[in-house]
Amino acid sequence: MPQSRIFSGIQPSGELHIGNYLGAVKNWVSLQRQYESFFCVVDYHAITGPYVPDDLRRRTRDMVVSLLASGVDPSACTLFIQSAVPEHTELAWIFNTITPIGELERQTQFKEKSARQESILAGILNYPVLQAADILLYKANLVPVGEDQVQHLELSREISRRWNAKFDPAYIAALEARSGAAAESAKESSAEDLVGFFPEPKALLTPTRRIMGLDGQAKMSKSLGNTIGLLEEPKDIWEKLRPAVTDPARVRKTDPGTPEICNIYHLHKAFSDPATVEHVAVQCRTAGWGCIDCKKVLFESMDRELTPIRNRAKEIRSDPSVIDEPLARGAEHARDIAGDTMRETKHMMGLT
Ligand code: SF4
Repeated sequence: MPQSRIFSGIQPSGELHIGNYLGAVKNWVSLQRQYESFFCVVDYHAITGPYVPDDLRRRTRDMVVSLLASGVDPSACTLFIQSAVPEHTELAWIFNTITPIGELERQTQFKEKSARQESILAGILNYPVLQAADILLYKANLVPVGEDQVQHLELSREISRRWNAKFDPAYIAALEARSGAAAESAKESSAEDLVGFFPEPKALLTPTRRIMGLDGQAKMSKSLGNTIGLLEEPKDIWEKLRPAVTDPARVRKTDPGTPEICNIYHLHKAFSDPATVEHVAVQCRTAGWGCIDCKKVLFESMDRELTPIRNRAKEIRSDPSVIDEPLARGAEHARDIAGDTMRETKHMMGLT
């Protein structure tokens, strides 16, 4: 049986922060040898908002440095930049022709972004169509996502079903055999178990829960300024960690706390060993130590994991070939597969 294929993309937002390292990239590293993996820095997605070209180039490169330093291994996966494979936008155009505008307008992300803008770019509306093309171009059947992103995959699944039902002769025949005269109406609703030219990608849930920012209020995000950079120097990490929000019930050192509602405890779960995590919970509940003591232990755990990554990033930056060669190889392999998909897709659609 062929190995399952996964696709995952990440925005070229510059150096990783520990939220996207723990929430996505660490998972990529553990998946890259279990599945045939395609990991992509999605720069076409990044240009749907305002940006400066030189800055985008720098952020794209910084992201690649972070990925390589974190353990994404180009000999185990296909790592590439989205715009190096023009078939992404070619397939997105094709999918645009079978996607009703109403479906795109109902997407939560579009509603949120368009509510903040007077003039809405078509690229923002069509963003999920490009996402579907990213995944389906490689016929990926699994997509690593957090629980909060599962609904984003539904549109890709819907586009896959719709295209198969319109253009894949074997899929259409199977639908008709199943539904007889009622096939027309059943095409888009009852085909989940049929295998078409494009698969219906499924979510591969990321084991790490959502990482909150240091403010303890919202998801860790650069735009909210509540992050710790993956490659930050130890003294800068401690400066951010020391004032980070904890359980508000712990006003004095003698007040017992509830670790489950404290973001520092959840960071311990991500960086500290199980015995330390247990010790943290006991010390917190019994007011056995203060929050600064707790943060010092977290800092040590983080430093153990992050120092080798930071050192690797410095080595990678000193030799551009360590970045350029794997990216060129990755793009070439991605284009081989993407080219095959496009040739077959266009043939079935009557495009020469
Ligand atoms: Fe959070 Fe640790 Fe303070 Fe408990 S002791 S509230 S887990 S920082």
